[in-house]
Amino acid sequence: MPHSTPSVIVVGGGAASVFVTVAVRERAAALGLPTPAITVVGNDAVVGLGLAYGRAEPHHRLNSPASAMSLSPAEPGGFLAYLDDVGWRDGDGSAASAGSFVPRQVFGHYLASAFQALLDDSASGVSFVRGDVVAVVEAEGRSTVTLADATELSADVVVLALGNPPPGRVTVPTAGVARTIDDPWARDALDGIRETDSVLLIGTGLTTIDIATSLARRHPGIVMTATSRRLLLPAVHLAAPVPPGPGLVSGDSLLAGDATPPLPELLRDFGRQLRAASAAGEPWQPVLDGVRPQIHTLWRGLGVADRKRFVAHVARRWDVHRHRMAQSVWVELSGLIDAGTLTLVSDVSGQEFDVAVNCTGPNSVAARGWSPLVDALLSAGSIVPDPTGLGFDADEAGALVSTAGAVSSRLFAVGAGLKGALWETVAVPEMRVVATRIAERVLPA
Ligand SMILES: Cc1cc2nc3c(=O)[nH]c(=O)nc-3n(C[C@H](O)[C@H](O)[C@H](O)COP(=O)(O)OP(=O)(O)OC[C@H]3O[C@@H](n4cnc5c(N)ncnc54)[C@H](O)[C@@H]3O)c2cc1C
Repeated sequence: MPHSTPSVIVVGGGAASVFVTVAVRERAAALGLPTPAITVVGNDAVVGLGLAYGRAEPHHRLNSPASAMSLSPAEPGGFLAYLDDVGWRDGDGSAASAGSFVPRQVFGHYLASAFQALLDDSASGVSFVRGDVVAVVEAEGRSTVTLADATELSADVVVLALGNPPPGRVTVPTAGVARTIDDPWARDALDGIRETDSVLLIGTGLTTIDIATSLARRHPGIVMTATSRRLLLPAVHLAAPVPPGPGLVSGDSLLAGDATPPLPELLRDFGRQLRAASAAGEPWQPVLDGVRPQIHTLWRGLGVADRKRFVAHVARRWDVHRHRMAQSVWVELSGLIDAGTLTLVSDVSGQEFDVAVNCTGPNSVAARGWSPLVDALLSAGSIVPDPTGLGFDADEAGALVSTAGAVSSRLFAVGAGLKGALWETVAVPEMRVVATRIAERVLPA
């Protein structure tokens, strides 16, 4: 393999691994370089499913429309074409359109089949090794990846695509809980819950909606309470996609080096646009969607103090408006609320429940204790948490920063690990952007 096409190991095996694989291959092809050797190392049997798409139940829908979910930026209709190819039909018999919210399992099959096609092609240069990666060490210009069974693999570049850790420790908001399920995404997590159990769901976000609808489908007579301080539920998508608004400031001028305005100024501009939309009788969703492509630049332009302020005071409201549920999901959820199956209560102190489920969302990828690999990299100083503690310190292309402050040219992250560095990183459109940036960094023009 000529030196001009570095080899890549992607650690993970979930959705992001497929995005990185595709982006690196497309970049090499665009530059006329030989096909790169790409090895995905993951601990699940099938690459592409991961937590979000591998453990979803059939009724769990994507929270992004089909038009946003293609693997390749060069082929924006790729997911829709796949749905057409496999003859997917929604419950009412309709074919997929740009605004369809397709089951997460179906999206997982799309990613998995795309990766499998590469594995089946002996000339693709793509391979898969199943195992748990416990160490990544750089020496003499190569990175060595060690698996739990002591297998060693080496490559020029390693990308960490580790996905979302389980939720962090939660303070159960009432003493009257008999038992707590700490990880709602663990396989069989809900199997021990009976129809007669009174269930407390801690949190009122998208995980709560998944769990509430799953439990209600399993046990139609079940009674559930969901709790959070402000009872903010995720907003609902518009019935049909509307083009995004202009955003807050010209992305071009920011990229040209202009300073990002301080957070209060950004929020004022955002508020102004929301009020103008409301006064004109127009939806607010396009205002937010217009800001989304600018988030990485804006976030990196904010000072650490402003980033922390955003996390403390704005993030929850941002999240419920940014990560929206499909209308069909809202119909099901509001049906549960109307039927008294699910009650939303901000203060459950003094109440008694048989089971509480921690639905507070994933912990920081940079937290110690969930991944031997992350612990090892933190201890070695190869990576550090970003100043907000939400993920790893990294640059805009996901290149990881060491304790010495050096930006690596060989160790990258994608997905949840970049939350602190870029803020919006877990959803498919942002993951696709970062995968492309990694490919451009690894294979410069
Ligand atoms: C429940 C849920 C629903 C979501 N729904 C949507 C949605 O509708 N739309 C959207 O855009 N985004 C959604 N997301 C965001 C989601 O994070 C991304 O879309 C995507 O699935 C993340 O891919 P990933 O590869 O980073 O993580 P994952 O797909 O979770 O994959 C990570 C994989 O890495 C493996 N792994 C971790 N450490 C190691 C190691 N040391 N060695 C080997 N393997 C390892 C894990 O076991 C896992 O298989 C959802 C997230 C969750 C949690």
